[in-house]
Amino acid sequence: MDKYQVLKEYFGYEQFRPFQEESIDALLGGRDLLTILPTGAGKSLCYQLPTLMSEGLSVVVSPLIALMQDQVRNLQVSGIEAVTIHSDLSEAERNDIFGKLHGGRVKLLYVAPERLILPSFIDFLKKLHVNFFVIDEAHCVSEWGHEFRSDYQQLALLKEHFPDTPIAAFTATATREVAVDIAKSLRLNDPLILRGNVFRENLHVSCMPRHQNGRSQVLDFLKDHRDESGIIYTFTRKECEDLARFLQSHNISAKAYHARLEKEEKQRVYEDFVHDRIDIVVATIAFGMGIDKSNIRFVLHTSLPKTLESYYQEIGRAGRDGLPSHTLLLFNKSDEIQKRELIQNTPNEHYREILEGKLSKMYRYAVGSGCRHRVMGQYFGDEVEACGDKCDNCQREPAQMEDITREVRMFLSAVYRTGSRFGQNHLIDLLRGSKSAKIAQFDHDKLSVYGIGTERSKQVWQRIIDRLFDIEAITTGEHRAIVMREKGVQILKGAQKVEIDATHLVDLKRSSNLKLEIERDTPKDEKFEALRELRARLAKAANLPAYIIFSDKTLLELASYLPKNKAEMLAINGIGEVKYERYGEPFLELCLKLRSEG
Ligand SMILES: [Zn+2]
Repeated sequence: MDKYQVLKEYFGYEQFRPFQEESIDALLGGRDLLTILPTGAGKSLCYQLPTLMSEGLSVVVSPLIALMQDQVRNLQVSGIEAVTIHSDLSEAERNDIFGKLHGGRVKLLYVAPERLILPSFIDFLKKLHVNFFVIDEAHCVSEWGHEFRSDYQQLALLKEHFPDTPIAAFTATATREVAVDIAKSLRLNDPLILRGNVFRENLHVSCMPRHQNGRSQVLDFLKDHRDESGIIYTFTRKECEDLARFLQSHNISAKAYHARLEKEEKQRVYEDFVHDRIDIVVATIAFGMGIDKSNIRFVLHTSLPKTLESYYQEIGRAGRDGLPSHTLLLFNKSDEIQKRELIQNTPNEHYREILEGKLSKMYRYAVGSGCRHRVMGQYFGDEVEACGDKCDNCQREPAQMEDITREVRMFLSAVYRTGSRFGQNHLIDLLRGSKSAKIAQFDHDKLSVYGIGTERSKQVWQRIIDRLFDIEAITTGEHRAIVMREKGVQILKGAQKVEIDATHLVDLKRSSNLKLEIERDTPKDEKFEALRELRARLAKAANLPAYIIFSDKTLLELASYLPKNKAEMLAINGIGEVKYERYGEPFLELCLKLRSEG
């Protein structure tokens, strides 16, 4: 049979989709391959089909048992002999599979990376006829990717043991940097690199600052999607359960799905969703990988994802049938702070910096005002034209713009005068005339730019800096230091003006309907009480009402985040530079104490 006959016979298609045929030809020709195709573009066919046309079997590395079982089931249904070996198998099942493998009947063998790299397993494979290796979810190989796994990195030794066997790596998401890293890490030999379009025309994307807990925005969005299938991603398990209950109370057919559910319940929710018995799954990120449901009409996020890769992968689950589908991301600055704090726990410093960089890019994407498809394209190294009507930014009425050239030049000269060696917090401190130890340590209070930016709040400065990233006037260098780009130099010289959406200059802290929302998994009342006691003592000594020192909301945030240093204190609502100077230190000390007590 030729490849078109196999396509028709086993897969039921008349023709190939973009890049499938090129991938197949490369593998049949014995060439290494790296294919980057969005979810739903038909990746697995790229290696399943050439396997059917070859003598031996192909070995597929995949990260999840559930995913492998799914694939094997699907293949068996199509009459293709496929097996998976994993830790959940009984002795008898395993022997049966090894028997089949020796018998030469198996076309596809699915294994987890940690099994594949066992010396005994490699010896076993050497006795079989392996056509080629397939590395699925290959971005896990790269520490520049968003799901780095060390067992994936050890796959490098495949080329040592099987120098003449081609390797085909597949992923849905890889920046140029990650693609190069994948090829290098797997020691691919002059691989053919195929990259599908990042732009998914049937996906309408939009982002919105979250108002309080975002419930009213979620209901608003769902009004336009009655009786449609959709996924709502939440950050915490608690929010997942709360939101599912909230939707049920509004007669919306929704169920919660998260890692802590019983295995049977997870399976039930999954099946109910796949079979359209429920409309909506409210899920933590545990849900959706490898999901094969084509009629998902919307994906909604109630908080900021950690990376653009995972965001793109998650929204990519909508509209696999090519019909118009919608996405909405609700976020605010507290999400970014919270996630940054989690990243601090990453032990590997190098990897931590990568994650921080990715988080910053995710946040800037959310607050950015350019075409979202275009920004996404840029991120993955794909040239995308402004979409016109497939994203909220392109559809928006032209914004009221305000000239901020003066502020921008203040900021850029602060960058210049401090030798492009400092991060945004320090530069804002400098402009706002902070008396922090770090400012004094570098003699930055002696610079002419010291204290010239007090009329703008820390938060507005943040927005101005976001804008500068957005127009590519600045970038980040080592240790997240702000570095000027050519455009920044032109602005500093006075050769270019900068404008910003006037609504971005409104101080959210003082705007009552945009208060930051705190998500707390467990009540932290003792912490709140300890902070309240301290506040009462200070208030009494100063003969002031307690709320003048810090509001209850500020104390709740302090109890929730327990900041570790001044910069983190200043990120809390209600703590500005002045208040910090007056009352900050005793609260910081208390927070550190509470933190050490756990
Ligand atoms: Zn657009």
